[in-house]
Amino acid sequence: MAKDFDPHRLDIRRFADEGAVLEGTDPLVRYRRLGAETEAVAGREVHWRARGEMLNPHHVQPQVWVHVEADATLPLVCQRCLNPVEVPLAVNRSFRFVADEATAAAEDDEAEEDLLALSHSFDLLELVEDELLMELPVAPRHEACPVDVKMSATDPAFEAAGAQKEHPFAVLGRLKASK
Ligand SMILES: [Zn+2]
Repeated sequence: MAKDFDPHRLDIRRFADEGAVLEGTDPLVRYRRLGAETEAVAGREVHWRARGEMLNPHHVQPQVWVHVEADATLPLVCQRCLNPVEVPLAVNRSFRFVADEATAAAEDDEAEEDLLALSHSFDLLELVEDELLMELPVAPRHEACPVDVKMSATDPAFEAAGAQKEHPFAVLGRLKASK
């Protein structure tokens, strides 16, 4: 039964052996590192799901896998117009668990999948948070910024507006001359 499993202290081998599934929806505020990326955590949620799988169970060295999916939508600041932009993050990755950190490091170059060290009390939600953090865009942007924003000097309306505005020194010069 999945109820036996604590996502913060997961026995990975047993989770895989039982082909168990865990999922949950948590307030974003519980994910402090992810929440620090946005100022509006209220009402935001992180949804995640993990499934354990043992491949070649009868082999001498069966493969322990955990498949992780997660998603969240964060309000970030658009780097083009500086207005808020809703950025959906989605993770869908599979991890193979090996005996220890040394094995993971040794096999990492050849393995196409992500390798992690087996643990009896693995923090699955920390992994979920790590993976979501990696999905954060370096420079979040609207696909199309709100239309009322003048964002570029090549915008003809923007250039026309600029041309009509008198240079402040020209105004100052006239004020001095009229004294
Ligand atoms: Zn924008």
